[in-house]
Amino acid sequence: MSNRYDYDLIALGAGSGGLSVVERAASYGQKCAIVEHGKMGGTCVNVGCVPKKIMWFGASLAHLLDDARGYGFDVKNQGFSWAQLVEKREGYISGINNWYYSHLKELGIDEFKGTASFIDSHHIEIDGKAYSAKHIAIATGTIPIIPEIPGAEHAITSDGFFALNERPDRVAIAGSGYVAVELAGVLNALGCEVTMYLRKSHVLGNFDSMLSKNLFAQLQDSGIHLKTENQIRKITKHDDGSLELVDLHDATQSGLDQILFAIGRKPDHNSLNIQNSGVELDDRGFIKTNLYQNTNQAHIFALGDITGRSPLTPVAIAAGRRLADRLYDDQSDRHLDYQNIATVVFSHPPIGTVGLSEEAAIKLYGDRIKVYQTSFTAMYNSISGHPIPTAMKLVCLGDQDKVIGCHIIGPGADEMLQGFAVAVSMGATKKDFDDTVAIHPTSAEELVTMR
Ligand SMILES: Cc1cc2nc3c(=O)[nH]c(=O)nc-3n(C[C@H](O)[C@H](O)[C@H](O)COP(=O)(O)OP(=O)(O)OC[C@H]3O[C@@H](n4cnc5c(N)ncnc54)[C@H](O)[C@@H]3O)c2cc1C
Repeated sequence: MSNRYDYDLIALGAGSGGLSVVERAASYGQKCAIVEHGKMGGTCVNVGCVPKKIMWFGASLAHLLDDARGYGFDVKNQGFSWAQLVEKREGYISGINNWYYSHLKELGIDEFKGTASFIDSHHIEIDGKAYSAKHIAIATGTIPIIPEIPGAEHAITSDGFFALNERPDRVAIAGSGYVAVELAGVLNALGCEVTMYLRKSHVLGNFDSMLSKNLFAQLQDSGIHLKTENQIRKITKHDDGSLELVDLHDATQSGLDQILFAIGRKPDHNSLNIQNSGVELDDRGFIKTNLYQNTNQAHIFALGDITGRSPLTPVAIAAGRRLADRLYDDQSDRHLDYQNIATVVFSHPPIGTVGLSEEAAIKLYGDRIKVYQTSFTAMYNSISGHPIPTAMKLVCLGDQDKVIGCHIIGPGADEMLQGFAVAVSMGATKKDFDDTVAIHPTSAEELVTMR
């Protein structure tokens, strides 16, 4: 390390991005520090992927209990303890938090509990003390958006959802993105009455229309009330603690226990004094970066959600590791390819998707696109008496029928996709899919037997 600086690298924010870049940099012998003013692990560990997936598992068990009857079991769901599930969930998360503290210590990474802010482009202040670094990685993530409407202070966001110690009986959710549909599915399965307020007439607007149409129908069939082309415009809290909302058409909904906004997230550089860094922001306030995670300041980098690109944990991790490989291991062209990033929506049923939607592919390539699709009721669901449809689509390009999009909705889609994502990112063609011998009997085999 150059003696000019206290550290080779300081990461701001100990979420998926910040942790991954210092871990990898330390493995190359760099002197690193990380600063976090919240809980170790950031959004994913504390109020994102991890607690969400645990709640999703709980909700899936509620569906399984129903399904078991179709298989001849005389089971009755005799109750559910939200508090018990939350206690176990938080215990699991504490285990991850604590593991990180000892892991950082083992790697020799200094960990500061506090709020970081820029003094200038090489100096960071943490609770009144200044530290200098040769390189700085900004990974401070995003925070949920709360609309500016009267009574918004009575509503919660996904953060508030994970703070609930008891199950709400009636909830209104504003939003149509993946967080909104995931939390709606969990609450509904665990016995809550859910109404969703959708600004347009669909959910998952940026996804392939086959996915968004099927999920819309599934949400409806599962008993969730869907208010389309509507928004919440006012909230009142009554003396008994119940909430009432007024929508865009002046209709009211009262007797609500919670109103949850899942309408998007905004960059979190509120406490960074970002103007002192000289780093440029885009017009939505995200930090401008190129494919190498470089900002306009040669020694300052940004990664993860704060860059506004593919806000997913594995993306932040991959970007962080590649950045450290490039800076400290002479891998001069190492960077993350942001194409073909697979993702799962943990709705009920789940969605797995990678590559271009049919609509996006046609916009780019017109009639060079060929689409193969199928829909069926999986064997499991035929017997369970809950004939949830499974639907799959392959979007293929040109004479070679290169698979540039693979989309699945249905039970098991979440675990099905990862292997197919490898094939898509390797440039597999429809013929490669067809030449792969099917695994029978599974739902996934339909992806290699489509006509
Ligand atoms: C409800 C929900 C569910 C999700 N589910 C999934 C999923 O299933 N799969 C998936 O891949 N992704 C999921 N995500 C997205 C995933 O959580 C994020 O993409 C990921 O956490 C981004 O990592 P990051 O490092 O960029 O930011 P974060 O994890 O948000 O970390 C940023 C950290 O910076 C800290 N910080 C901010 N300012 C300062 C400061 N000035 N000083 C010190 N610390 C500061 C914050 O406290 C925070 O801990 C989900 C997100 C949400 C909200």
